[in-house]
Amino acid sequence: MGVALEAVGLTKEFKGFVAVNDVSLAVEKGTIHALIGPNGAGKTTCFNLLTKFLQPTRGKITYEGRDITRMAPAEIARLGMVRSFQISAVFPDLTVLQNVRIALQRRRGESFDFWRSEKTLARYDDEARGHVAEVGLSEFEGHRAAELSYGRKRALEIATTLALEPEMLLLDEPMAGMAEADVARISALIRRIAKDRTILMVEHNLSVVADLSDRITVLARGEILAEGDYATISKAPEVIEAYIGA
Ligand code: ADP
Repeated sequence: MGVALEAVGLTKEFKGFVAVNDVSLAVEKGTIHALIGPNGAGKTTCFNLLTKFLQPTRGKITYEGRDITRMAPAEIARLGMVRSFQISAVFPDLTVLQNVRIALQRRRGESFDFWRSEKTLARYDDEARGHVAEVGLSEFEGHRAAELSYGRKRALEIATTLALEPEMLLLDEPMAGMAEADVARISALIRRIAKDRTILMVEHNLSVVADLSDRITVLARGEILAEGDYATISKAPEVIEAYIGA
């Protein structure tokens, strides 16, 4: 399959404190890869480095073989790697369909214009409906985003991300704060969108990680502690110790 995203020797220091230390990882195309670890392990910092929201102190990041170490998030998005919630915010007073239409408009580089006539925007409806259907929100397309349950709001955020036609999605704790029923729904959604895309996620819910991930990288104290499938990493003594000792 080949590698989608690769980091080599990724390091981030904050005023001498090493939050991420010499991390190398490769996310294979077409897989779901999870980044886990106890609190303070460096997951968020690592995620922000990979999505270029932070500049690494040292190290190199490539996407599809291209060096993206010095690129800005928007440039990387144009290459097909998109962080969920990065570009597309959800506007509470707009409907589900309107939110996805705006994301499509932005992808085309059109000016971001609330005053554009409904008739002009309606050109995007078919495509927008496709993304709304993909995240299972068709029956809610006319609902204001504010009226949606928390889980459905996250699904809408994913739909606005899909409107950017990513080949790779980076999801930051997709299950955070979610009720059980929504966890099951978003898990199914992630599995569905992963069919023809690559996914890297930071996620705390270990049963979700076990259920979804092809490969897992475990961080602790800024370093990689273990890597492999869930069966492998969950048996590793150093992983068990890091979680218990956290
Ligand atoms: P995780 O997401 O795994 O909980 P973080 O990446 O948020 O871990 O944090 C890793 C370590 O880096 C923590 O000790 C945290 O306090 C530190 N850290 C994170 N961001 C900063 C920052 N901007 N300045 C200083 N220290 C930071």
